[in-house]
Amino acid sequence: MDHKKVRVRFAPSPTGGLHLGGVRTVLFNYLFAKQHKGDFVLRIEDTDQTRYVPGAEEYINECLRWCGLTPDESPAAGGPYVPYRQSERKALYRQYAEQLVQSGHAYYAFDTPEELEGMRERLKTPENPSPQYNHVVRQKMRNSLTLPDAEVQELLAKNTPHVIRINMPANEELIFTDMVRGEVTFNTNQVDDKVLLKADGMPTYHLAVVVDDYLMKITHAFRGEEWLPSAPVHLLLWKYLGWEADMPQWAHLPLILKPDGNGKLSKRDGDRLGFPVYAMNWTDPRSNEFTKGFRELGFLPEAFINMLVMLGWNDGTEQEIFSLEELIRKFSIERVHKAGAKFDFEKAKWFNHQYLVRKDNESLAALFQPVLAEKGITADPAYVATVAGLVKERCHVINEIWDHGFFFFQTPLSYDEASVKPKWNADKEAFFTAWSEQLASLSSFTAPELEASFKALAAEKNIKMGELQLPFRIMLTSGKFGPPVFDIAATLGIEETKARIAKGLEAFK
Ligand code: GLU
Repeated sequence: MDHKKVRVRFAPSPTGGLHLGGVRTVLFNYLFAKQHKGDFVLRIEDTDQTRYVPGAEEYINECLRWCGLTPDESPAAGGPYVPYRQSERKALYRQYAEQLVQSGHAYYAFDTPEELEGMRERLKTPENPSPQYNHVVRQKMRNSLTLPDAEVQELLAKNTPHVIRINMPANEELIFTDMVRGEVTFNTNQVDDKVLLKADGMPTYHLAVVVDDYLMKITHAFRGEEWLPSAPVHLLLWKYLGWEADMPQWAHLPLILKPDGNGKLSKRDGDRLGFPVYAMNWTDPRSNEFTKGFRELGFLPEAFINMLVMLGWNDGTEQEIFSLEELIRKFSIERVHKAGAKFDFEKAKWFNHQYLVRKDNESLAALFQPVLAEKGITADPAYVATVAGLVKERCHVINEIWDHGFFFFQTPLSYDEASVKPKWNADKEAFFTAWSEQLASLSSFTAPELEASFKALAAEKNIKMGELQLPFRIMLTSGKFGPPVFDIAATLGIEETKARIAKGLEAFK
C-alpha cells in the first residue's frame, strides 16, 4: 500500500448546490493528496439519471475553482483515466456485474415494479414499514436464485427487463479499519441485496464507485459519514471482484451539525436561522428555488476554507488561522474527530474578518466592485480601495463594506436631524459657511490638513470641536457612523465635501 502513489477522489453526484460539508470533504481529500504529493481526482457520479440536475456539475467546477482546490484530473481537465463522468463509462460496468453473477455473488432479478410493490405491501408490519429485498425475501422473489436455469436463460434471451443484485451472505461479520473511526463492524443481515446494475444498464452508485475507485487506482477515499452504511456493500464488492488488496483506505468524515448540535446541518436550517449552508448561490433549475451561498455573501475563499478545516480538525494547539500551504503541511486525517462538529455562523464570520483585515485594499476593492455594480454604481478602483481600507476593520464580509461605507458612493438623501437640530444655531451655521470657503486655500486636501484648519477656525469662533464634528459627520454620511470624519472628507474630495456641507446647511435650518 505504502509504495503506491496517493490518489484521492471527490465523487459528487450532480444533484444540486454544494453543501459546506461537501466542500469540507473536498478540502480534506485535497490536503491529504497535496501533503503526500499525490493526485486529487474529481469524478462526477451521475449514474442516477432521475436525480441529475443540469448546471450542478458546472456549479461544482466553479466552486472548486473559487476555493482554489483544483483537481489534477476531472471531466474538464481530463487525465489518464478518462472519462471522469460515470454516465460516459456506462459500457464498462456490466462486465463486472456479470462476473459477480458468474461467481455466485450476484444474481439476476426479474421482479416488476408491481411485484416489488406487492412484496412490500405483503410483508410490511408496524415495526418494519418498508421491507427490503434481502437474504430472506429474495427466496420468494423472481430471480436467478429461485427460478429454474432454463427459465432464466429464456427470460434473458427475450430481453426481459431485469436488474442485477448483490447476493448478500446471511449473518456474516464484516470488519474494516476506518482512518477516523478505527475498527468498524457490520453484520451482513443489516444490509439488503442492493441493486448493482439497473434495468437500463446503468450501474448503481455501489457498483460504479467500487469499479471506478479500482480502475482509477484510488488509494484513499474520504467521504461523509452518511456513506458508512454503504461500506459493507462496497467491502464485499472489493472482495468478490478479487481486488481486496487494492481497496482504498477509507475515512468517513464526521457530520457538520446544526448550531445547537441536534442533527445534521441542512439547507433548511440556513433558511431558518439566516445563514448560508451552500458554498455559492444556487438556483434549482427545476423549481427555481434559490439557496444563498457563502461566496455571494462576501466570504473570502481562504477564510471559508480555514473555517471549514476547523470543523472537525485541529492541529493540537490553539492555532486557528492557517494558510492553505500551512494546512497542506499540518493536516492529518488521524486528527479528524469522530464526533460531529457544530456549525457556528458567528465563528465563520470571525474567520472571514481575520482574513478581510489582512487583505490589501486593492483586492478588497476588486471583490467589492460587483456589489457596487449590482447597485448600478461605477467607481474608480483607487477610490474604492481607499474606502475599503477605511471601513474594513468594521466588516465581517465583503458586502458589509457597503453597510459601513455606502455614503462614499451616494450623497445623503436625508439626515439624522434629531441629533443635530436641538443644538443647531447661527454660530455653527456661520462656522461651516466660513470653513467651506477656506477649503480651497488648503495646501493639500488631506485629513491632517482638514483637521488642523477645522480646529483653528473652531478655536477662533470659540466653539467646541465636539459640537461641530457631529453635525459635520451627519452632513457627510447622514448619521452618527463611519470612519474618522476628516478621513471621510479627504476621501470624498473638495467638491463633494463642499456640496455636502451646503446641502446639510439647508437641511439643518
Ligand atoms: N456519489 C457519492 C456522493 O454523492 C459519493 C460517495 C463516495 O465518496 O463514495 O457523495
